[in-house]
Amino acid sequence: MKDPMKSRKSKRWVIKAGSSMVCSGGPLLLRAWMQQVAALKRDHGIEVIWVTSGAIASAVDRTQFIRHLEKKTLSQKQALSAIGQPLVMDLYNLALQTNGLIGAQVLLTYDDVANKHRRANFINTMEQLLAWDVTPVLNENDAVATEEIKFGDNDTLSAKVACAMKADRLIILTDVEGLYDADPRQHKDAKLLNQLKGIFKKTLDSTGRHAGSPRGTGGMYSKLTAAKMAARQGIETWLVKGDGPQVLLKVAENQTVGTRIQVK
Ligand code: GLU
Repeated sequence: MKDPMKSRKSKRWVIKAGSSMVCSGGPLLLRAWMQQVAALKRDHGIEVIWVTSGAIASAVDRTQFIRHLEKKTLSQKQALSAIGQPLVMDLYNLALQTNGLIGAQVLLTYDDVANKHRRANFINTMEQLLAWDVTPVLNENDAVATEEIKFGDNDTLSAKVACAMKADRLIILTDVEGLYDADPRQHKDAKLLNQLKGIFKKTLDSTGRHAGSPRGTGGMYSKLTAAKMAARQGIETWLVKGDGPQVLLKVAENQTVGTRIQVK
């Protein structure tokens, strides 16, 4: 058994999957992701920390009683997350198991990484899981997170986790190919930006703050903010289309895919 305190030889990635990907991709996509996670570990020596959204959206999909409400109250969202989180974990456990992997659920609030002692606890648990070759699957603990102790979106959560766990890369799986030089929904000739050297204020300013899809809370602005946070700690971020074929393996091979945000 590996000692979690020994110096790290393997590379470490934090991979974040958004709500719309998880819900529309369902069991098949999750199985394809976990197959790639197994290959990342086996063939590339990469440890994976998985951050998932989709608890609230899965509960909305499963239950009928709240679907019609455009604006949900905080307590409704909290209750929905409590319904949806086990549904999401069922999907992950099945996908992990099919690929010979063991998963672990870790639910976090902002305090767990902001407070020095809680952060140390979190890191110890994560190091132990990784040393046991277990794949941690993280989400925000929305059921108990009030506005003051919320990350707000899982892009921020994934960047904080990448920094705390000294990851080498942050991979954000989204439902678009990456960052474009204009909104591709409005401009047909918008070009995908394959590489950026850091995130500049003008890139952030030109990106709308609205949510990227009706299901998630993120959008491109929060992804770029997460990338900026990661870059400050020397962590490279990749924004890639989550259901692209073998997309994680392409990232491992440094192929040109999505948007690679290098550290300045
Ligand atoms: N933590 C929320 C969920 O699992 C999602 C937050 C986000 O959209 O990033 O439903």
